[in-house]
Amino acid sequence: MKRLPGWLRRRYTLLIIPEHSGASSRVRLTIVPLLLVGAVFGLLVTIAVLLLALRSEDLLRIRALHEELAEAVDAYEASLADREKSIALLKSEVQRLTEEAGAVKQKLEELDKLEAEIEAIVELALPGESDALISSSSGKNAAVQPLSYGGVGGENHPVEEDELTEAAGYGSFAGYGSVNLMTSLRDEAESIRARLAAKKEEAARVLDKLRMLPIAWPTESTRITSEFGLRSDPFTRRLAQHSGIDIGGVSGDPVLAAGGGVVVESAYNRSRGHYIIIKHDNGYKSVYMHLRKRLVSEGQKVAQGEQIGLLGSSGRSTGPHLHFEIWKNDQAVDPLPYLQLFKEENS
Ligand SMILES: [Zn+2]
Repeated sequence: MKRLPGWLRRRYTLLIIPEHSGASSRVRLTIVPLLLVGAVFGLLVTIAVLLLALRSEDLLRIRALHEELAEAVDAYEASLADREKSIALLKSEVQRLTEEAGAVKQKLEELDKLEAEIEAIVELALPGESDALISSSSGKNAAVQPLSYGGVGGENHPVEEDELTEAAGYGSFAGYGSVNLMTSLRDEAESIRARLAAKKEEAARVLDKLRMLPIAWPTESTRITSEFGLRSDPFTRRLAQHSGIDIGGVSGDPVLAAGGGVVVESAYNRSRGHYIIIKHDNGYKSVYMHLRKRLVSEGQKVAQGEQIGLLGSSGRSTGPHLHFEIWKNDQAVDPLPYLQLFKEENS
């Protein structure tokens, strides 16, 4: 067995002397136990340091995980907020389209009514021509798709919360996706709008036609003093045919063209006084008698509502009034139904 080196074998004496007694004790030892004690202490310190280091690393890792978690929560909340926002947007979009479709639909129904009224008017003013007029125009617009729900009814279908949720694509309602509802709403609104535009055009065409017919009141006054038909003649007191209507008024009141057309007569004779005859479309003529003054001449084009003279009492007349006639194919007809077509609008 190899001998230990000298410095290890060297013995040391440790003297322990208490402060107040003479007895001292001594311990004799080599360096080895001291070294052992030192080594053990060092080891303990190292382990403690290692443990501390490991712990702080754990702490750091935990902190990092915490941060990651917080970020993930933030991101989730943000995406949730985004989602809620887009759901709200979709909801309002669906709401808007529904309202739009409803509004346009309502307008269309009003227009349907108006169309029927116009058709009745045209039927009266242009017998047999309303069909041609209306059907030719709708034939022209045959490309416009008919409404999917059949047009009339006017029921409003409020969008349910469920549908909205589905529309927003929330959950997994396959088959009732938002795209379907939105697309059908948009299509519906679009087709209604197209139909509305076609109807508007059609209405404009009809209105153009109506402007050339004697259907507007020729005076500001609408007071009828004598109706069309058999009456007792104001001069002879005999039963006679009154071929027009008499409208009361004040001398000098404006007299207006009942419809657009061409002045075919502007003259004076003893019976009619100052009178004007206007030729309109579709075999119609309108006649204005007993004028105080004529403001148009033969061959002149006039528009509906244009002033053509002044109301008076010239000719065979008992006082200021307008004697107004409408002729259809050179035969006098009762003017009143024509003038009353738009009575509500005038009054
Ligand atoms: Zn008369």
